[in-house]
Amino acid sequence: MNYQFVDKKKQANEKFRTREFKKTRAWKDKIAQGICYYCSKKFEPQLLTLDHIVPLSRGGKTIIGNCVPACESCNKAKGCDTPVDIFFRSLSTESAGE
Ligand SMILES: [Zn+2]
Repeated sequence: MNYQFVDKKKQANEKFRTREFKKTRAWKDKIAQGICYYCSKKFEPQLLTLDHIVPLSRGGKTIIGNCVPACESCNKAKGCDTPVDIFFRSLSTESAGE
């Protein structure tokens, strides 16, 4: 086994798992609160998308600890970044203010 590359087949499998995961009680409970994990704003549950904290493209798994609700704009802004990437970006933009 070579762990350096993310297997395409494995990635497709995770996408299937994501679909299945969305049907679980644990996930439904999470989005029922309607809170975006990233901006903490409240949304209609159907507007929240499933986001992998560690993206599948980086070997993340579809498990409750790695799946969070995200609004559309946060999901788009995040792209393939990990929380570490976001953390460092927030440091560099923090002084910009509002
Ligand atoms: Zn958001």
